[in-house]
Amino acid sequence: MLKRERGLLIVLSGPSGVGKGTVRKALFEQDDVHFEYSISMTTRKPREGEVDGVDYFFKSKEEFEQLIKEEKLLEWAEYVGNYYGTPIEYVEKTLNEGKDVFLEIEVQGALQVKKSFPEGLFIFLVPPSLDELKNRIVTRGTESEGLIQNRMNVAKEEIEMMHAYDYVVVNDQVDLACERIKAIVTAEHCRRERVEKQYKKLLEAE
Ligand code: 5GP
Repeated sequence: MLKRERGLLIVLSGPSGVGKGTVRKALFEQDDVHFEYSISMTTRKPREGEVDGVDYFFKSKEEFEQLIKEEKLLEWAEYVGNYYGTPIEYVEKTLNEGKDVFLEIEVQGALQVKKSFPEGLFIFLVPPSLDELKNRIVTRGTESEGLIQNRMNVAKEEIEMMHAYDYVVVNDQVDLACERIKAIVTAEHCRRERVEKQYKKLLEAE
């Protein structure tokens, strides 16, 4: 069996409220999922039940801006008044250990990752319909009216960004979305471009 040299960077993105967080949590509860989740940093306040260092690393605005300045983030974005970003060190270290890293981030951040990691696997999660999307944003119940409208507007613009992705997964049912993501990752590992380099090295070493 060939040893995997560098892990795959898997980026799950999609419009606000599409259920990225729910799909990600469901994925990581499955025994046959071996991706490493990259915990993001954010300046937003923890929601009830969220734990620092598990759901996010919760930071002050000043701390976050310092991390940007020191170039410690692979990507970052300002989203509905708060900063969100991916710590670069964890991603690099884990990929170099040959493990797959999974990011669940909004679309501006995903576009930045694509610039520095064009070889990444970019998956766009979409709602079955826009009505469904609004339903999910409203029934989440943690947001005010103004914020709901704001998130809907952002979401519509975000759907137009589908063209930047490799795969589109419809989130009609969480378990089905998870199955699709796992199938995509499996296929991606078999992609000729990804394995060919290693075979070449093996042959050269003969
Ligand atoms: P929430 O506040 O609901 O946890 O997340 C809001 C949005 O920020 C979601 O779309 C989520 O995917 C995104 N997000 C979470 N972490 C990051 C990150 O590290 N970078 C970026 N760009 N977006 C993130």
